[in-house]
Amino acid sequence: TEEILLHSEKLAVAGQLAAGIVHEVRNPLTAIKGFLQLMDANKEYQHSYFQIIQSEIDRIELILSELLVLSKPKDMEFNKADLLEILLQVKALIDTHATMNNIEIELSYLSTIQTLICDENQLKQVFINFLKNAIEAMPNGGKININVLSEERNTIKIQMIDQGCGIPKEHLERVGQPFFTTKENGTGLGFMISMKIIENHQGNIHIISNENGTTIEVTLPTSH
Ligand code: ADP
Ligand code: MG
Repeated sequence: TEEILLHSEKLAVAGQLAAGIVHEVRNPLTAIKGFLQLMDANKEYQHSYFQIIQSEIDRIELILSELLVLSKPKDMEFNKADLLEILLQVKALIDTHATMNNIEIELSYLSTIQTLICDENQLKQVFINFLKNAIEAMPNGGKININVLSEERNTIKIQMIDQGCGIPKEHLERVGQPFFTTKENGTGLGFMISMKIIENHQGNIHIISNENGTTIEVTLPTSH
């Protein structure tokens, strides 16, 4: 029956995720183990081994802290929050990083709706994830536009438009799969986590991309 099918599909997804986590955490652990042995044998290189070990531990921490969001849907705190305030705070958080990369972020709030029922910290996480991706897609700098529109009743749309490298067609359906990354130091978790958070808010995410850039559209229900 359908119910059983859905259940086993979910188990398969959980299995894939678990396999991915094991793989991604085991790699840095293996490196740490190796460098600890080297450290013991070659005392004069201790400092550089120490630095490698530290960055591998940081990587494990990053992966686990990103995954924490998935394991705690019950801990979500839904409250009334001001979307403009959230976006201004996110912009303030990421502006220095953007400026260092020659990127200007412009926020246009074109909606009258401001109040959302949401988990404010998790929504911030989503916008930060997408803006980081936008910055990482523009190594030569440029502009990111954040537009907030309310085209339909009861929904609000947040567009994040970058002028980056775009996502090639063959990658589009893999974006958001756990651990899919094209970056040397990427975790491939940001998109998946963001999708999960927006799903928990009854919203949806749309990707529009070509070689001139990418637009991420997040649609969320509004509260009245
Ligand atoms: P990560 O950023 O760690 O690679 P994400 O889940 O955030 O993981 O993104 C997965 C992949 O999707 C990225 O490695 C990149 O190839 C692609 N991607 C996401 N956002 C963009 C964007 N704005 N422009 C170009 N590529 C993107
Ligand atoms: Mg990312």
